[in-house]
Amino acid sequence: MQADRLLCINGEFVSPRQGAFFETFNPGTGAVIGRVAQAGPQDVDAAVAAARAALPAWKALGGTGRGRVLRALADTLRAHRQELAELEALDGGKPIAETPEADVDSGADCLEYFAGQAASFQGEYQEVEGGFFYTRPEPLGVCAGIGAWNYPLQIACWKSAPALAAGNTMVFKPSELTPLSALRFAELAKQAGVPDGVINVIPGFGDVGQALSRHPDVDKISLTGGVDTGKKVMADAASTLKAVSLELGGKSPLIIFDDADLDDAVSGALLANFYTQGEICTNGTRVFVHESIRGAFLERLLERIRKLRIGDPMDPASDIGAMISENHMHHVLSYIEAGKAAGAQCLIGGKQATVEGCENGWYVEPTVFDGCTDDMQIVREEIFGPVMSVLSFSDETEVVARANDTPFGLAAGLFTRDIERAHRVAGDLEAGIVWINHYNLSPIEMPFGGVKQSGIGKENSRRAMEYYSRLKSVFVARGAVEAPY
Ligand code: NDP
Repeated sequence: MQADRLLCINGEFVSPRQGAFFETFNPGTGAVIGRVAQAGPQDVDAAVAAARAALPAWKALGGTGRGRVLRALADTLRAHRQELAELEALDGGKPIAETPEADVDSGADCLEYFAGQAASFQGEYQEVEGGFFYTRPEPLGVCAGIGAWNYPLQIACWKSAPALAAGNTMVFKPSELTPLSALRFAELAKQAGVPDGVINVIPGFGDVGQALSRHPDVDKISLTGGVDTGKKVMADAASTLKAVSLELGGKSPLIIFDDADLDDAVSGALLANFYTQGEICTNGTRVFVHESIRGAFLERLLERIRKLRIGDPMDPASDIGAMISENHMHHVLSYIEAGKAAGAQCLIGGKQATVEGCENGWYVEPTVFDGCTDDMQIVREEIFGPVMSVLSFSDETEVVARANDTPFGLAAGLFTRDIERAHRVAGDLEAGIVWINHYNLSPIEMPFGGVKQSGIGKENSRRAMEYYSRLKSVFVARGAVEAPY
């Protein structure tokens, strides 16, 4: 058992004022890792006050100065790459084969990218009739980040880096299921020279997120989570009209046309469904395959799935780790049962998996359903597990309409060799992100975010700075003031 992990408020690691702690688990074994401080209302107030107090000096540091600090934090993360990768696999059930790159490098890249952006965060100038104007991008103030459990360190970085680069300070609440890496991030931030109060991390439950969303002294809230939580956060934020960014769920389509490179398409479908054991918001879980290649596609797909190794997340040979919690495992399994009951044909998987030496872990076999129809629950709802639904189509117009027939709009993918069709379909798909001939690549330079009920706003890229700043227009008059009175 690790020592109790405390809240990070104003650069200090402190016990929660109400004295409450909760346990965090290793999904791979079901064992308790340790106890984590649970923030209460007074801790939320203290963290927000610390972030408010830290604002003037952080802002006064200027873009180059803030960028230097963010760069140092990126370097510190990289120096602790293996340790952070292990922590993420331990607390999140993700295979250690993924976490160094997908979690640590991705977080460090983000810090490094926004370190570079900080200094060139500039306004514009224009001559107009009667004078000229210029614009000043200004920080919003205290930003609160609320994280999901699937990419805890990456989410902490994706929210903190642009916020800090723009001159804001941050109060971050990780998911109660994966609090460890964000707390370690706060320790490393202090070590890297991030001033006290600029990054505060307060683990807790939904009530902490709610308190931040309603807090009169929080200027911006950025959530990564489910659609229902997004609606609650938006409603709570309305009481103070604070700015909101929402990165929510999805049920994204992946379309394989008849001229696709079949091996690449199979690779894309695997990445779109089984990376991080399917616990990825952008996953392309509705796989539309042209009817003329369905047989060949399924044959190659199943051949490769049979080689996947479900195993202890800490074992470098594991391809598929554990579901985040016992509850979530049962949630995923209940969808699998619903798919079978609805008449979909389970081609592979379809059960809880047992891993030798990890008998109490929460594993689900990679599962593929064929013969799915658009109205099935497994095709309409986000499962957030390793469950792929295969659907057939024959015509481009038909498949685009079916792909768009969802309240979600996070991502989409398509495989074809026809470049005209690729760009036409990319244009027609109602999604915030479209991958052509690949899936789930999210370089830091590319805007990331959904449309429809999958969210509001963009993370990553230069665009993210717009969501952590407000623009002031300053008009400067030339000549006398002519008033009609
Ligand atoms: P949840 O919506 O359950 O939780 C997200 C965060 O919100 C957690 O920290 C949670 O706290 C907190 N929370 C819960 N209730 C409230 C509330 N009323 N007010 C404020 N905060 C609250 O999502 P999950 O953690 O289960 O993550 C899975 C979901 O996240 C999926 O739908 C997935 O698609 C989505 N997601 C979206 C991504 C994107 O970028 N678009 C990326 C990753 C995931 P706690 O858990 O501690 O109780």
